[in-house]
Order: sequence, then structure tokens, then C-alpha cells
Amino acid sequence: MTDPIQLAQHLLASPLDARDIAIVERQLGRYPRGMVAVGARCACGRPLAVVTRPLLPGGVPFPTTCYLTSPEAVKAASHVEAEGTMREYGALVENDAETKAAYERAHQLYLEFRHAVAAQLGDSEEHIEGTSAGGMPTRVKCLHALVAQSLVMGSGTNPIGDMVLERVKDEFSPTLCRCSVDWPEQSEPEQSEEDERQ
Ligand SMILES: [Zn+2]
Repeated sequence: MTDPIQLAQHLLASPLDARDIAIVERQLGRYPRGMVAVGARCACGRPLAVVTRPLLPGGVPFPTTCYLTSPEAVKAASHVEAEGTMREYGALVENDAETKAAYERAHQLYLEFRHAVAAQLGDSEEHIEGTSAGGMPTRVKCLHALVAQSLVMGSGTNPIGDMVLERVKDEFSPTLCRCSVDWPEQSEPEQSEEDERQ
């Protein structure tokens, strides 16, 4: 687990790479609006989750700061949701004191991280203040958001996100590449033809 403020500074320090944007665009099937950094990468280097700014272009408030983009991770989280485990996780958060406390802490860390991102970008959090993601701090509503937090902020941050990652490790793991999205071309078509001739 990394300090959320340091993490935000670290992630936003490197400028966005056109190739990363192109990969995420392929992963989502649309341009990643508000993407300000790659939050987590696969062992191969492709983005798994991105950091999205709190205020999207056009002034749309966006609370899901850690956004899962890897189609393999999205699919794995969807499988777990379809297995009906949400209720199990929800009961843990409600009844198990340790999980409950860790989940509340994950919520706080999410807010701290977003606040640091917002401060650096000068974004207003007016409409999403106190709102994190995935149902936190008391409910389990979207495993994708919780897994994204675990991937971006590291294991030990979100107890449910960590449990989901452990559960799906034979289907998705950040340490073992199963990426299906192609790398985009490095350069313009004329340029690559020239490169091939050399
Ligand atoms: Zn990969």
C-alpha cells in the first residue's frame, strides 16, 4: 500500500503517453475521457486501470477515480459478480469487524487519493465530495471499482478488491499477461513502410 498523496503525485508526474491512450481506447472501445494517468499496468506494460480526473471535460463530476480498463480484468470481475458473491462480500463488510474496518479505511484512502488528484489538477470535487466508488464504505455494489482500487493503490488497500483478485487469479492477474488488445502502431503508415524497407 502506498501513501495516497504520494501515489497521486507520482502517477501524475509522468505525462500521458499517446500509445497508452490508444491502448485504453481499444480496451474500452471509446476514447478514455478524463484519463490523466495510467494507474496500474500488466506485466507486459499495457494499462490495466487508469486514473480519471474528478471533473470530466464539460464539467461532468466523475467519482470513479480508479477505473478498470483491462478487458480481462473486467471480465473476471463480472464473472465473480455473476456467481452471486456480492451478497457474501456484503455480509463480510457488514458483519466481520476486521473487514468492515478495512473497508471503511479503503473508502478514506480512495477519497484521499482523489483529493490529491483534484488538488493537483485544480478540479472541483463539489458534487462528489464524500462519494468514493463500488458502494464503499458500507455496501459492495461494483467489484470492478474495488478491483481497480486494489490495482492502482496496491494490495492491502481494499480488502474486497484483494479478495476478488485472489479469487480470479487463474483468469486474471497483473503479474501474468493475458492481454488480448493489440499494441497500436508506433507511427504513421508511411513511416512504418519506410521503417520496413530499412
Ligand atoms: Zn499484458
